[in-house]
Amino acid sequence: MNILEFLSGSGNDSRRRRPFVISGPCSAESRGQVMGTAAALKKEGVNVFRAGAWKPRSKPGGFEGKGVEALPWLSEVRSAFGMKTGTEVANPCHMEEVLRHGLDFVWIGARTVTNPFAVQEIAESLKGVDFPVFIKNPVSPDLGLWIGAIERIANSGVSKIGAVHRGFNSFAKSAYRNNPYWSIPIELRHKMPGIPVLCDPSHIAGDRNLVETISLQAANLGFDGLFVESHINPDAALSDSFQQITPSFLGKIIYRIKEMNEIAEGDADMMSYRSEIDSIDDQIAGLLSRRMKISEEIGHYKKSHSIPVVQHERYASVLDKWVERGQAAGLDPVFMKELMRCIHEESVKVQMKIIENK
Ligand code: PEP
Ligand code: MN
Repeated sequence: MNILEFLSGSGNDSRRRRPFVISGPCSAESRGQVMGTAAALKKEGVNVFRAGAWKPRSKPGGFEGKGVEALPWLSEVRSAFGMKTGTEVANPCHMEEVLRHGLDFVWIGARTVTNPFAVQEIAESLKGVDFPVFIKNPVSPDLGLWIGAIERIANSGVSKIGAVHRGFNSFAKSAYRNNPYWSIPIELRHKMPGIPVLCDPSHIAGDRNLVETISLQAANLGFDGLFVESHINPDAALSDSFQQITPSFLGKIIYRIKEMNEIAEGDADMMSYRSEIDSIDDQIAGLLSRRMKISEEIGHYKKSHSIPVVQHERYASVLDKWVERGQAAGLDPVFMKELMRCIHEESVKVQMKIIENK
């Protein structure tokens, strides 16, 4: 029995089409928030619950989690809703507390995985315990380091191990918080075929509007399931507020993946076309967002130099260029004009707001 079968119970047909999902808040903040989120997830058919008790934060002074105080809330989720529960551990003391509170699994976070000494200490504390462990990729795109951490845990006799792909820190500007470098988890699968790999779309996206797209891409790429952050009230979250989604939105994502899996059973070509379209749409959204940001900067410049928002010659020349570009690329000029009008209108709206100081 692997770690996913252990956490979900043995699968039947309808479960096979439904993705395996672990979800819950970035941090366990209060009993009410934990119980409320778990109850809502249970309604969406999620049976494995995550919540961080100890939060490794880059800078001191932020919310660093409730620590041991949060663990009884997770035990309560377990007994009240029959869900399996887990949290992040970064050292043997955390591991000891998790065992004392009777949780079902742990994960080792991206920052801890970068440090082989820390991973080895956790591995030592697992000797003779054989407790389920997920290992996130390290923050840097280093497959060897990721595999090394998995081997350290396996060498201490742990038989139920999973990997979680949460993307890699990157200086390159992109619409995502972390660069997915999909080829790295795909190579991990080839090198360690016995280790199930989940995708954490929340930390890759860093933005709740992108979580669905990444989840669907992961399903298309053959990941074994999702490890997603959700919160009963994401806007009020004490950590990673931008990337957490509501349990009901997660329910919609699960439904779409299930639907896709059903189509996939009959039509693999269609899936690959759709995946390509999704990825192009992501790029279009990223480019539009960059264009609007530059437009905002122009708005500030125009304001400080008392230049009017719309200059008709400039507008006419932009429109002509769009039609020319479209013709060169085999696109209908009427369609290109319409599209440009729409973008220009939004741009004017953004600049007017700046000029009017709204
Ligand atoms: C988390 O899952 O809450 C977390 C801290 O993630 P990561 O270690 O991937 O940054
Ligand atoms: Mn988080």
